Amino acid sequence: MFDSLNERLGSVFKALKGRGKLTEAHIEDGMKEVRMALLEADVHYRVVKQFVADVKARSLGREVMESLTPGQQVVKIVYEELTRLMGEASVPLELSGPKPAVVMLVGLQGAGKTTTAGKLALYLRKTGKKPYLVPADVYRPAAIEQLQKLAGEIGVPVYPSESSADPLDICLDAREDARKQGCDVLLVDTAGRLHVDETLMAELVRIREKMTPSDILLVADAMTGQDAVKMASAFDQDLGIGGIVLTKTDGDARGGAALSIRSVTGRPVKFVGTGEKISALDLFHPDRMASRILGMGDTLSLIEKAQEMVDEKQAADLERKLRKNEFTLEDFRDQLRQVRKMGPIGDLLKMLPGVNEKALGKMNIDERELVRVEAIINSMTPEERRRHAIINGSRRKRIARGSGTRVQDVNQLLKNYTQTMKMVKKLNKGGLKGMRGMRGM
Ligand code: GDP
Repeated sequence: MFDSLNERLGSVFKALKGRGKLTEAHIEDGMKEVRMALLEADVHYRVVKQFVADVKARSLGREVMESLTPGQQVVKIVYEELTRLMGEASVPLELSGPKPAVVMLVGLQGAGKTTTAGKLALYLRKTGKKPYLVPADVYRPAAIEQLQKLAGEIGVPVYPSESSADPLDICLDAREDARKQGCDVLLVDTAGRLHVDETLMAELVRIREKMTPSDILLVADAMTGQDAVKMASAFDQDLGIGGIVLTKTDGDARGGAALSIRSVTGRPVKFVGTGEKISALDLFHPDRMASRILGMGDTLSLIEKAQEMVDEKQAADLERKLRKNEFTLEDFRDQLRQVRKMGPIGDLLKMLPGVNEKALGKMNIDERELVRVEAIINSMTPEERRRHAIINGSRRKRIARGSGTRVQDVNQLLKNYTQTMKMVKKLNKGGLKGMRGMRGM
């Protein structure tokens, strides 16, 4: 998301920063370009108008015009205004009231509601909550099954809904069950439709009245741009929503929905879906999103992702093993798994400053390489993993066959591993202190 906007704004700022002094005409020209870029990104025209007016007014102020780096100042203003547009701070899920708190997920079919319910359950569990999933979309074939499967994958309790049952009865019964099981958040996946219609709204209102949710999240597809904004307004008017989850922000959505939805509907984006994997859900941080739009990177999110994946105990174990030169191929494989858990490498790199999706495409990052390495290690016997020195020619052949790779691949892996170990030995002599800061990365 935001790729072409990022590029367009980048060239506007380059021109502005290239000048020692800025005149009113320079700023006028720059703002015309910003306006075009935002409109092309499918940002709501009223939002664009106000945004450009605000940035212009501030840019023409004395502190910018008289600054030694006026171009930089304009970028800073755009960053601040973008952040403000998206809502300043992130807004958490509302979970107050009697337990279990009820969160309703609403939205059109295909927006990603069911997937998001599963993602939210995982997210909540990571924050120490005990979620309970309720499949109440009895109309879309397979929605119930889909949620039950997701629940099974992450080990979260799920209500055994029948598609012939009434959605409200399902919710009421599920709440009882959740109470008995000591769960504190009920996540209700409600029915979607192809369009907003009265029957759907009536059903949602009926559930809302009896279940008194602490939060209602509209799940909207970022790829649909202004339609997502209209949808949010419609649901808010008829049902009242607490916030929005924008899904599919990993695709080539132009970003118009993310930039307009808050200011048009007055409701915050609370989460963004960033992929099909169950872990691909992020809290929405307006400031981080703004720096991503401006190509300033999102290093904070990257660090958080890494921290989330690192188990402190495991990190300490690893450090001890490295110090004693006991780091085996098995440990090496565990490390690879950690890296893969963090999601596609491309997604991680995108968060770094100055990396945009186009550049990534050219880099050709080969995830398959990681898979291959893991397959090779899996094909070794436990003894071989612990004592790589015993892996002779015939063992190499067997391992290659077992993992569906070539002997050269096995050789390459062993070479990389022994080189790493040599490096570690050297570091060990010099003390491992310097490596502490690298924990988990
Ligand atoms: P529902 O009808 O609203 O319940 O939609 P689903 O949860 O079944 O999602 C529809 C499709 O969108 C599925 O193929 C999901 O895998 C996909 N999807 C959902 N969220 C995301 C996301 O954040 N990124 C991507 N790339 N796909 C998503």
